[in-house]
Amino acid sequence: MIRIHNLTKSFGVFKAVDHISLEVPQGSFLVLVGPSGCGKSTMLRMLAGLERPTSGTVQFGSNIVSDGDRGWVIDPSRRDTGLVFQSYALWPHMTVAGNVDWPLKVAKMGKAERQSRVAEVLRMLGIEALSARYPNEISGGQQQRVAIARMIAPRPAILLFDEPLSNLDAKLRVEMRTELLRVHRATGATSVYVTHDQVEAMTMATHVAVLNNGRVEQFGSPEELVANPSTAFVATFVGTPP
Ligand code: ATP
Ligand code: MG
Repeated sequence: MIRIHNLTKSFGVFKAVDHISLEVPQGSFLVLVGPSGCGKSTMLRMLAGLERPTSGTVQFGSNIVSDGDRGWVIDPSRRDTGLVFQSYALWPHMTVAGNVDWPLKVAKMGKAERQSRVAEVLRMLGIEALSARYPNEISGGQQQRVAIARMIAPRPAILLFDEPLSNLDAKLRVEMRTELLRVHRATGATSVYVTHDQVEAMTMATHVAVLNNGRVEQFGSPEELVANPSTAFVATFVGTPP
């Protein structure tokens, strides 16, 4: 379960995220969608622990992991989250297998166990044949798969994605949507997925939050948003203008 309560992030007098409250059960695929600058990445960074909320709380299961009112956050490395950005940020000096192995090494997993887990996730993403290559020797789509493999290798309970498909061409983007959902279901994790692409939002989500100017314009299932958009902004966004 992820519970976000009154979460706010101010930069000076500007509120990038303005009293957002959301709750989704474990296993959900929550999509945060909205135009550029509406606060999606700031939200995700607060979930990851990379940004301290000005006020409000983030709760994962029974643990409060960020408390803006009390001014503390649990360290990103102790949140049981995995993160994939738009830029895949692979280590250029490590092979594909080395990149995926890295978070397991950090977690001090034994060598034999690491080897079998790396092989398993490379297989899961269909990139086992690339294991000895370096990031500059594989395509953008393949790099994306490596980034996802690296994220899921330590079995995080929460997967955080910030526009992970926006660097891919249209065909690969559609393919990777299906792939990501498969990985999401196979891991049993709860995912939070940031995008400005409404097709991605409506086809992938179990829950959608449409953000506008740092606030939640509407929160519900894709079906609810299409059938019953609460504002003209949402209607335009989900493609059913009033
Ligand atoms: P995009 O779709 O373009 O990635 P976004 O929805 O992810 O947009 P954010 O990056 O969350 O938007 O930014 C929300 C707002 O907060 C923007 O107006 C941005 O300029 C502002 N902002 C973000 N980070 C900072 C910062 N460190 N200092 C000041 N303003 C910031
Ligand atoms: Mg962003």
